[in-house]
Amino acid sequence: MARLRAGSEVFDLLVVGGGASGLGAAVDAAARGHRVALIEQGDFAQGTSSRSTKLVHGGVRYLGQGNLSLVTSALRERGRLLRNAPHLAHAMPFVIPSYSWWEKPYYAFGMTLYDGLAGRLSLGASQRLSRAETIRHLPTIETDGLRGGVLYYDGQFDDARLAINLAQTAVEGGAVLVNYCACVGLVKERGVVGGVLVRDGETGAEFAVRARAVINATGVFVDALRCFDEPKTAPMVTVSQGVHLVLPREFLPGSSALMIPKTADGRVLFAIPWHGRLVVGTTDTPNVAATIAPRALPEEVAFILDHARKYLTRDPGEGDVLSVFAGLRPLVKRGRAGDTARLSRDHTIAISPSRLITLTGGKWTTYRKMAEDVVDQAERVAGLGHTPSTTAERAIHGAGGTGGTAGSLQMYGSDAVAIAELAGRDPALAGPVHPACALGRAEVVWHARQEMARTVEDVLARRTRTLVLDARASIEAAPVVARLLADELGRDDAWVAAQVRGYRELARGWLLPAPAETARAAALPLVA
Ligand SMILES: Cc1cc2nc3c(=O)[nH]c(=O)nc-3n(C[C@H](O)[C@H](O)[C@H](O)COP(=O)(O)OP(=O)(O)OC[C@H]3O[C@@H](n4cnc5c(N)ncnc54)[C@H](O)[C@@H]3O)c2cc1C
Repeated sequence: MARLRAGSEVFDLLVVGGGASGLGAAVDAAARGHRVALIEQGDFAQGTSSRSTKLVHGGVRYLGQGNLSLVTSALRERGRLLRNAPHLAHAMPFVIPSYSWWEKPYYAFGMTLYDGLAGRLSLGASQRLSRAETIRHLPTIETDGLRGGVLYYDGQFDDARLAINLAQTAVEGGAVLVNYCACVGLVKERGVVGGVLVRDGETGAEFAVRARAVINATGVFVDALRCFDEPKTAPMVTVSQGVHLVLPREFLPGSSALMIPKTADGRVLFAIPWHGRLVVGTTDTPNVAATIAPRALPEEVAFILDHARKYLTRDPGEGDVLSVFAGLRPLVKRGRAGDTARLSRDHTIAISPSRLITLTGGKWTTYRKMAEDVVDQAERVAGLGHTPSTTAERAIHGAGGTGGTAGSLQMYGSDAVAIAELAGRDPALAGPVHPACALGRAEVVWHARQEMARTVEDVLARRTRTLVLDARASIEAAPVVARLLADELGRDDAWVAAQVRGYRELARGWLLPAPAETARAAALPLVA
């Protein structure tokens, strides 16, 4: 903050938005030796980047659309991410069950093509499965009419943890990153963007930060920033919502994920083991409002539960749902706005006449390539001269082994040892925050000291995935987390009470039954 507020420094690049796109750009630019700053209005990955299906994938769906170059490029990035962040990303078997004579040969052909496009970065050869083998992989699959299946491999990761580790990687590369600081305007000199106006969300202070180039990586909010640049500019993205339900693992035991390639309305649906739970989703609801805290629509919840009941022998009800989360896709307008499943999932870089650089679209899997492309453009805009990207081979913070530490600390990778030592040194930090969840007290202290956690939500939703895995348990844990954070950040009792109250309110929105207020009812124009 001190460096940003000093006002004396002109950064080479300033990135607005701390999701996958912005963090990737900060990592890439810092690794090239540029002077980089990044501001995030809330917490890192608080938007779409913590609400994904957690797949590192080429996109089987795009294969069906014949978009082979998009799939090939994503498969290359999949391989790189699994190599550069092995503590957060790994291969996982997926099984497509077949209920009619044509499905097995059809999907077997498609998945063989998928393997082929991955080349030497393939995670394993796809296989045709007999009926018995399919049941062995998916013990609770509906057996009525089941003929067999097709197994293939894809990647899985922890999206918010990767975002935090990318933030750390960027800082280690020399970048200046702050959360809870919003861009509230652009600084222009002779019609050219030369910085941004920043509002510190904790103090309300406003100040300008100057930069040779500004990258707008604000996800579904890119048009709001483009309007700071050019008030009458036409919207570039349309927003579609995707919802996931989190269920106990008993609904699909075993280590394979279930992939339904075509739901009743032609979408792809997954049921995926993740951190000891089952994540089921997603939906694709077009034309919703761009908002910080999207909520699942009742019909989206019903759609997912109906399909889970159709394909699983044990029928989940609303009472089984541990949490429900919604994420928003920024889809670049190229087709009909009402048909977002067919809009481009590829990324787009736009440079305005006043040289604001906007990066949007794409997916988590391709964040690195998106970053490489946008920094190439930003170098040109800023007149920096070209330095090649080095991120394809660069390890992400935490890669490098857990030093024998096991259990929930594994997701911290090479930081696990230091967290275990913290717990070992101070008996007050030795236990969990609450019997209902595995989160250790030492972890919370680590989040405050090393991972820029500022609120209870930062800890429970993104530094750990407690909210996603069990919203009720996270509500129980909130008071202890608030107290531990207050001790670290020098906050008083009133702050603790406000944090716990605010967190409970937020977490209730992740529980079923879904509140009456729906995303559609709240649909507002993207830009006021
Ligand atoms: C339901 C769903 C499932 C998905 N599943 C997958 C998947 O399995 N695999 C995959 O590869 N991809 C997946 N994706 C796509 C992927 O999640 C997104 O492409 C990616 O997270 C987008 O990142 P982003 O940084 O562009 O946007 P965001 O993550 O939304 O980040 C933008 C950030 O900008 C900040 N911001 C906005 N305005 C301002 C401002 N004025 N000042 C400062 N900061 C600001 C926001 O707070 C936000 O944190 C999924 C997407 C959805 C919606």
